[in-house]
Amino acid sequence: MKQFTAKLVTNHLQRLRISLLIVLCFMAVGLWMDGRLPQSAPVSSDSLAGLTVALDPGHGGYDGGARARDSGVWEKELNLQIAKAVNAALAERGAAVTLTRTGDESLSAEGSGKTRKRADLQKRLDIAENAGADVFLSIHLNEYRDRAESGPQVYYQRGADAGRLLAGCLQEALIEVLQPAKKRAANAGDYYVLRSTRLPAALVECGFLSNAAEEKSLLDPAYHRRIAQAVADGLEKWLQLQKGL
Ligand SMILES: [Zn+2]
Repeated sequence: MKQFTAKLVTNHLQRLRISLLIVLCFMAVGLWMDGRLPQSAPVSSDSLAGLTVALDPGHGGYDGGARARDSGVWEKELNLQIAKAVNAALAERGAAVTLTRTGDESLSAEGSGKTRKRADLQKRLDIAENAGADVFLSIHLNEYRDRAESGPQVYYQRGADAGRLLAGCLQEALIEVLQPAKKRAANAGDYYVLRSTRLPAALVECGFLSNAAEEKSLLDPAYHRRIAQAVADGLEKWLQLQKGL
């Protein structure tokens, strides 16, 4: 009987030891996975609180913009999807966001050709002005006849210092988050929406629809969220620079 009890206790202890070992294994795997999983940005903060952003998904309606070479998807559709992702990322960090369009529409029904396009662009700036925006960001996608060209490219209005600083911060953040093969520098340009506003303004070409690999990325909602994170990071950096931090 004594022997039997001793055996029972030994068995029990052995089982306990095995259970403990299994638990420890799970904990070790958990810790290992934790270290390996990409650390995501803080879910929400107030780092952009107090900032009002006018977010402009380029083109819309009759104006499709560029067209993806392989899928045939229009730039206007992806601009809107990306802008909505950016909207969510900025709101998460406490910014107030006004979109210049939320559907597939042109902002001008009158005129034709250049006149209509100009009226559409002016409407976008009017929306930013009426919203009391602090900054104007236009979202676009690039294309080029040479399909090797790739990488995000941010533009500011030539001669506009505020826009240059903003574009530089956005460009750097896009490179940091997206790690593109081609690392471009922010560039001076001459665009109606940049030239015709007193707000710090930048035009973000998120990538090339003419590049096969980049087109695939630009069709992916997960990539839109990464672009959105980069834009939020860039704005954060820009705010810090302005506050002299
Ligand atoms: Zn465009």
